[in-house]
Amino acid sequence: MGTPDNDNGVRTDCDVLVIGGGQAGLSAAYFLGRFALGDRYQLLDHAPGPGGAWQFRWPTLTLAAANRVHDLPGYGLVEALGRDCESFPAATAVPEYFGKYEQKFGLRVHRPVDVRAVEYGGGSGSGADDFVATLGNGTQIAARTIINATGTWERPFIPHVPGIGDFRGRQLHTHDYVGPEEFAGLRVLVVGAGISAVQLLIEIARRAPGVQTFWCSRTEPVFDPTPFDPDKGRRAVARVEERVRAGLPPTSVVSVTGLALTPTIRAAQDDGILAWRPMFTRITERGVCWDCGTDGTSGDRSLDVDVIFWNTGFRSALDHLAPLRLRGPGGGITMTGRLATTVAADPRVQLLGYGPSASTIGANRAGRAAARNVADFLGG
Ligand code: FAD
Repeated sequence: MGTPDNDNGVRTDCDVLVIGGGQAGLSAAYFLGRFALGDRYQLLDHAPGPGGAWQFRWPTLTLAAANRVHDLPGYGLVEALGRDCESFPAATAVPEYFGKYEQKFGLRVHRPVDVRAVEYGGGSGSGADDFVATLGNGTQIAARTIINATGTWERPFIPHVPGIGDFRGRQLHTHDYVGPEEFAGLRVLVVGAGISAVQLLIEIARRAPGVQTFWCSRTEPVFDPTPFDPDKGRRAVARVEERVRAGLPPTSVVSVTGLALTPTIRAAQDDGILAWRPMFTRITERGVCWDCGTDGTSGDRSLDVDVIFWNTGFRSALDHLAPLRLRGPGGGITMTGRLATTVAADPRVQLLGYGPSASTIGANRAGRAAARNVADFLGG
């Protein structure tokens, strides 16, 4: 390992560069230590503190409301927080947990350090200059292998709809949500069919005084009244894994499993909050419309709103890997190996939190698989 090159203690070369210190990056770092590579990696993360994307979640998202934050390997959340923390905001509980985790296992995490771009160096897999990562401060890091664990939070996705730039009201994404109060007295259109869309629609409808809510999405959501079936979840993840092994863009697991029909959702249905409509075809200055004229004049089906709230998912935050040109003709990155964490085009690159590992349990497992793959590659 090279010498530390700045006050973050970041080394100018390493065998394994882990990018991202959320669930996936920490799991990978834990297992790199277990596979005798504890002094040959460094983990760089550009967030101000531990917790991965959880530190940025809205304050009303409690651990109980989350779809379960799985324990990191070797040290569980309740063990770390020492108390029943279900009612705690995820945005404070998970950072506390992850911070204790990093300390307990002495993980080599440096933050805030931004990885601006990763390029190929001149190496051929033998030297430590196979990849060159350029940091936000211009420092360059040479690395033999890359474990990328940069999640999706920083790539909110909003589909293009004609007229999207004409809307005079406010538009925001899940990523920007801070709580229901700011929608009091407004007409709010929630767009999306996933867990966040439904949870936040119900929260706004019930907790913003005088609000009027409306809901639409491209595909009609499916609510499943049967108890959660782990096999169904596994089949859904397997479908996503098939896609990334075929080099297709990953889809969300929820798009395959549907949404569990919980008592909260059933009550919202009874109260008319979950009155679903199909996706609008155009956005106008004052709202949205269905089957309306190209000049924005709406047919008999238009809806004036103050806010369009996009809960339309996220994409993997991979811009910094663009110089490696990993994406294939199918539009995705072809993955292979254990749990589809290895980039087929370059086995020195592991992608975590991509496709089937885009969940806390998936991130855990992918972290172990990636560490194993890298240990095999380096002969650890
Ligand atoms: P993240 O937690 O996003 O961590 C990525 C890290 O990479 C961040 O710390 C970021 O600072 C860092 N980073 C990014 N780019 C760079 C860069 N260029 N340089 C340096 N550092 C960088 N899953 C569940 O299992 N249960 C849930 O309840 C649940 N709820 C969710 C709610 C929302 C709103 C969202 C968006 C996702 C949710 N998920 C949930 C999915 C889950 O959050 C993720 O799969 C998992 O937590 C992601 O972990 P990660 O390590 O892959 O990514």
